[in-house]
Amino acid sequence: MSDIIKLLPANIANQIAAGEVIQRPASVVKELLENAIDAGAMAIDVNIKDAGKTLIQVVDNGNGMSPSDALFCFQRHATSKVSTAEDLFSLTTKGFRGEALASIAAIAHVEMKTRIASNDVGQAILIEGSEIKRKEDVVCPIGTSFEVKNLFYNVPARRNFLKRESTEFKHIQDEFDRIALAHPDLYLTLTHNGSEIYNLHPAVLRKRIVNIFGVNSNDRLVPIEESTEIVSLKGFILKPEHARKTRGAQFLFVNNRFFKSSFFNHAVTKAFDGLLKQGAFPGYFLYLSVDTQKIDVNVHPTKTEIKFEEEKFIYSILLSSIKQALGKYNIAPTLEFEQETSFDIPHTMRSKHTVEPTIHIDTGFNPFKTTSRPNSANSGTGKTKENITKGIEEQGFGSVDTSNSDWENFYTIEEESDNIKEGYPPINMDDTMENISTFIVKGSYIITPSKSGLMMIHVRRAIEQIVYSSIHRSFIIKPIDSQKLLFPLEREVSINEINLWNENSSILKQLGYHGEIKDNLLKVNSVPAVIQEESISNSLDEIFQGIGFKELEKGDIAHTLVLAIAKSAAMKKINMNTNESIQALINQLFQCENHTYSPRNKKIIETITLDEIQYKFK
Ligand code: ADP
Ligand code: MG
Repeated sequence: MSDIIKLLPANIANQIAAGEVIQRPASVVKELLENAIDAGAMAIDVNIKDAGKTLIQVVDNGNGMSPSDALFCFQRHATSKVSTAEDLFSLTTKGFRGEALASIAAIAHVEMKTRIASNDVGQAILIEGSEIKRKEDVVCPIGTSFEVKNLFYNVPARRNFLKRESTEFKHIQDEFDRIALAHPDLYLTLTHNGSEIYNLHPAVLRKRIVNIFGVNSNDRLVPIEESTEIVSLKGFILKPEHARKTRGAQFLFVNNRFFKSSFFNHAVTKAFDGLLKQGAFPGYFLYLSVDTQKIDVNVHPTKTEIKFEEEKFIYSILLSSIKQALGKYNIAPTLEFEQETSFDIPHTMRSKHTVEPTIHIDTGFNPFKTTSRPNSANSGTGKTKENITKGIEEQGFGSVDTSNSDWENFYTIEEESDNIKEGYPPINMDDTMENISTFIVKGSYIITPSKSGLMMIHVRRAIEQIVYSSIHRSFIIKPIDSQKLLFPLEREVSINEINLWNENSSILKQLGYHGEIKDNLLKVNSVPAVIQEESISNSLDEIFQGIGFKELEKGDIAHTLVLAIAKSAAMKKINMNTNESIQALINQLFQCENHTYSPRNKKIIETITLDEIQYKFK
């Protein structure tokens, strides 16, 4: 058999490329708008006839093209935006593939007029089916205008598969909305069959959203703003009661480029958990800024799919900041608001001024000894007293009394059935505790009078909740405090664990874990300051177990990790040796958004009402 392979002629190759890039009239609108923005236009007019089947006209006041560029731009792989392979990873333009104009010109009749500022006349070019039919000098303003007519004239299959006019125009409007939302600083108009659909003046983002989605939108928007080293996030969410029955108000942008992501959509939806009516979708307009090196836009011809190097981290940031915003604006009608009225505030908190929260920590605790004395030594623990104190304080854990306390006087409970079962060490407390109104029973529960009876608090779970809330609240704003270990902790890790550690290293660092892996050995140099030496190894177990769990509800890594830290922090030796320290704990607990259930959904507070007490004496 003779040779049969040959190169496709340009017009056929372009037509094939067009099959991917130009699916419907809306794709043309998108590509032309993007080109106009890349050309630095400040004002763009879009004029459509018959949902784009008859005419798509896009006029911009951008830089225009030189006479030779005006001819060259219709060649496939002709672009001014990329010249080296490295450029692909520092893209700041919308386009880069050099395919759009070649594709459009292959399947439509295109007339382009363009002029650059340094020329008095511009060029007009008529191109049909990749063939230049006419080119001439014209008088035209600086910038570029495109008229695309008879779309798919030579691709009947595409033309016949176009949907009803209203549907096709809806697609056009969607593309227009995305551009308008990504660039509120641009003047943009959209006209369809002679009637003006949009006339958008440059505006701040909030106003632009309102202009597109209607006057009522303004008081429905809740602002979001967060900034971390890896990603900054700003934008708005729609209050849950205004969630829609469709996904029409879901917008994600990265570096001003609209993109779709079911993964990030999941994060947002999760933040709205329990707040939406059945069948409703949350509304959001979220703008991420990420280092261009850390995303790959070149995944799909239409560029609406983007790969993120740090997608798990970003997932967590999205989830946490939206949850916080919903909480801050008091939008979350959480269970505890209802319960608070029946729980009341403990008596001790009502009668006293708020005291600085104090938790007494046995800073001299030495995990290698079975009995220990306070301040006996820091040796062997790998961290200093100051370090722990500072760490705990900065984590919102209150001030720490490190004065010499008489260890021998503490009354240590030996058998704590519940605590032992859950693996917690016992709490040391002063034996005069039982004589005062707020006291600890069996080293595990605080009992305190409240208006309606008695309130019981599970101490370890309370601590877990306090640590969880404080870290979860603060880690997205700044890395949480970590403490350097004097002797790095070494741990053998499996291939799977190595991958997990590397995949999640950014978020682990943000949470205070710094380590390096050599061969199959993980060397942990720093850990969150709230974790005591003896619990570090346990915290690593928890972490690997947590993040190793396959589904992980799609990536809520932050929750899992903070949970692991909180659990390990709750393992600390605690001396509840003063009434104040108990009150401080109660205080901190009540400052948590959710103080009735621990982050693991275990009950923290239980009450016995006066009625119940009275009933027992019947
Ligand atoms: P890409 O946008 O990927 O570079 P296109 O086929 O969309 O590829 O455009 C090819 C080139 O034509 C662009 O790189 C740009 O230099 C030029 N161009 C296209 N549209 C415009 C415009 N509206 N104004 C100025 N230059 C344009
Ligand atoms: Mg382009």
